[in-house]
Amino acid sequence: MKNLVVGAGFSGATIANLLATELNEEVEVIDSKDHIAGNCYDYKYENGITIHKYGSHIFHTNNEKVWNFVSKFTEFNTYMHKVYANIDGIETTIPFNINTLYDVFPQSLASRLEEKLLAKYEYNKKVPILEFTKETDKDLKFLADYVYEKVFLHYTTKQWGVSPNDVDGAVTARVPVYISKDNRYFQDKYQGIPLEGYTKVVERMLDHKNIEIKLNKSFKDYKNADKEYKRVFYTGAIDQYFNYELGQLPYRSVNFKFETHNQEYYQQNSVVNYPCNYDFTRIHEYKHYLNEKSDKTVIAKEYSEAFEIGKNERYYPIPNDENTELYNKYLEKAKDLDNVYFLGRLGDYKYYDMDKAIARAIELFEEIK
Ligand code: UDP
Repeated sequence: MKNLVVGAGFSGATIANLLATELNEEVEVIDSKDHIAGNCYDYKYENGITIHKYGSHIFHTNNEKVWNFVSKFTEFNTYMHKVYANIDGIETTIPFNINTLYDVFPQSLASRLEEKLLAKYEYNKKVPILEFTKETDKDLKFLADYVYEKVFLHYTTKQWGVSPNDVDGAVTARVPVYISKDNRYFQDKYQGIPLEGYTKVVERMLDHKNIEIKLNKSFKDYKNADKEYKRVFYTGAIDQYFNYELGQLPYRSVNFKFETHNQEYYQQNSVVNYPCNYDFTRIHEYKHYLNEKSDKTVIAKEYSEAFEIGKNERYYPIPNDENTELYNKYLEKAKDLDNVYFLGRLGDYKYYDMDKAIARAIELFEEIK
């Protein structure tokens, strides 16, 4: 009996690869999209520029096992991600750090704030904004309120439809206030962009005699999958699996408006955030990732919106108490199924980065093998 893997993103491709290579089992991988690689899908657009169709993906991890696993399928460049934000017309780095102080404030104020920060926090400490706003020192409270307003409040309201206080603290804690002069977005040991793109990585993971891929294939056509297959690995939305019988889990979606410009570069960096201005959250300029050369450039403006069935795609689960409670009810139902496993951002309803999705698939494999 074969295994069925629903979804050909990193989660599905990892589990399929391990079943095929380590257990020598047969695997059928289906995806409702017309391509593999899920939301990590990239492709060459005009002028040979590699586009991340569903938004910028930067691989970063401290997990050796994950790094060794993906490195079997690709080489990476040594790209280290930085994000700039336009704050009151000044382009500065995000996360807000000690260098940012000097970009946005007069020298004397910046150095007073730096001194106070270093007196209070250890160097390289990451302070979540919601914790930082509880500061009682007058200067630090001023700084916390400034960062909250200029970096987090409007961006988060655009991205999640609610203010930072109404999303799980872990979401805004992904981008802390960083008591450091390290301008990078991530501090992980391993970071980079796969030299031939993410789609190629997934293609190689799935390139095995035991693996059959079927695209444009809906799971709706697999009514008795749990009886007809040895195991089912479902990386789609868990609420959809159960026909929404307990209610719909909410997700955020994103809409990318692509533009080609007749100029070499549109902006100095791959990602520039616009926390306070415009309706989009950020602008991606893709050629920076692989240092691709062209007289033209392709950018995407990113607009967030609520997910609606049939209208757009699921991108982000929305972690909060109410949604977690509903997810846990679906998880209880899932426990009654012996040979159906849920994984991935949508299957686990967790805001995984790529490395976490792969780590989860590897762990699941180790449990079942
Ligand atoms: N965030 C913000 N302002 C920024 C960058 C991030 O308010 O300039 C908040 C926002 O709520 C966002 C979260 O931090 O959703 C996580 O940001 P991250 O860049 O990790 O999001 P992703 O790239 O996964 O969309």
